[in-house]
Amino acid sequence: MSQFHAGESSTTRRYDLAVVGLGVMGAMVAWRAAAMGADVIALDPYVPGHRRGASHGGSRIFRTLCHEGVDYGVFARASLQIYRELEAATRTELLLQCGGLTIGPPGHPLVSAAAVTAETVGVAYERLDSAELRARYPQHAPMGKDIGLFEPTAGVLRPEAAVRAAVQASRAAGASVLSGVRCLKLRHEADGPTLFTNAGVIRARKTVLAIGGWTNDLVPDLELPLQVRRSVLCWFRDDTECHGTQNFPVFIRVGSGLDGWGIPDVDGRGVKVGLGGPHPSKRLLSHPDDNWGMHPVSVETAPVSAYVTKALPGLQPITASAEACMDVRTPDGHFVLGSHPRLADVVLCTGFSGHGFKHAPAVGTAVAQYALHGRTDFPIDAFAPDRFDRST
Ligand SMILES: Cc1cc2nc3c(=O)[nH]c(=O)nc-3n(C[C@H](O)[C@H](O)[C@H](O)COP(=O)(O)OP(=O)(O)OC[C@H]3O[C@@H](n4cnc5c(N)ncnc54)[C@H](O)[C@@H]3O)c2cc1C
Repeated sequence: MSQFHAGESSTTRRYDLAVVGLGVMGAMVAWRAAAMGADVIALDPYVPGHRRGASHGGSRIFRTLCHEGVDYGVFARASLQIYRELEAATRTELLLQCGGLTIGPPGHPLVSAAAVTAETVGVAYERLDSAELRARYPQHAPMGKDIGLFEPTAGVLRPEAAVRAAVQASRAAGASVLSGVRCLKLRHEADGPTLFTNAGVIRARKTVLAIGGWTNDLVPDLELPLQVRRSVLCWFRDDTECHGTQNFPVFIRVGSGLDGWGIPDVDGRGVKVGLGGPHPSKRLLSHPDDNWGMHPVSVETAPVSAYVTKALPGLQPITASAEACMDVRTPDGHFVLGSHPRLADVVLCTGFSGHGFKHAPAVGTAVAQYALHGRTDFPIDAFAPDRFDRST
């Protein structure tokens, strides 16, 4: 297959699909589309696995007990299988299934929603009452009658490795994958979109924009209501050796003012802990490029240390290390997947609102199917980009 070369100017070649952005979502779309037999080109200004977007930081939670809605359970269940396929194809370990806990008061809407998803999608889980939770997981300090939902299939994903594996699989399936190439402008033409990049012009029948917090740079007319927030990842040390993957499942905690999440020590760096939702310490960025080069400061890490003091008494509440990342949130917390409301050949894949990584393989499959064939079996109707402005 002939390749696009940096410096190549306008060519007559028209790809089936151009994928702009190679965070986890773009990498998965490129792989799935190339594996379906499409002629794919994919590009990013940085090397896959880089730290300037949202797909880095050593670990991510995988869980199927999705309190965000039943449809997400469908995506997570499919993603589990596709992550395993990717591991086999690239001989890379991407998912360590150490189990996962959802902790919160009985009857809390998010605890109930997680159980509904599990039961609807058919995922095994165990309900631990307050006494069982305290006995089995003394690392946590539950409040009052807090219960736990334990999901054995949950675990830890390795984000940088997952992005690189998807890129490797894309190339193996015939895709042209370019680093150091930024799309500067997108122009719609009768036979598909044209991409103007720093390395030449790319023509494609369809284009997927998987550029996370940068989406409004390339489709400013849409004014998608995306909030790009800086989110600092914090690691904490453990004196007791009780927070490894063998005894400390990933967790999501809700209620009692203790909304947060945590991931066991997978690489000797410590236990990773974060605060749930758009906490005030996660400041809004006017542009995603502003996140780069700003080192985490104490106003960002101190609230996480305070959380550790209350929720995880076995950890030293001093941040051992910290690293900036970013969230791209929609007003309703749901993804943005589907055609640009006025440019049918441009498919948007963004707005993952802090819970996208686990779903990336299924999102990649759904978006590849939708872009290439105009339909997908995955439930994406609720994620339509025009839901924010039904008048368009
Ligand atoms: C702190 C934190 C913790 C999280 N924890 C979890 C978790 O435990 N579980 C979970 O499931 N999810 C989690 N998430 C969410 C998950 O990480 C994101 O949903 C996911 O990484 C989003 O990937 P993306 O590909 O959309 O964006 P990105 O990774 O930001 O990728 C966008 C890419 O587009 C490229 N780009 C930008 N502009 C251009 C251009 N003009 N031309 C070409 N390329 C361009 C960028 O360089 C970048 O590589 C977390 C997120 C954060 C911030």
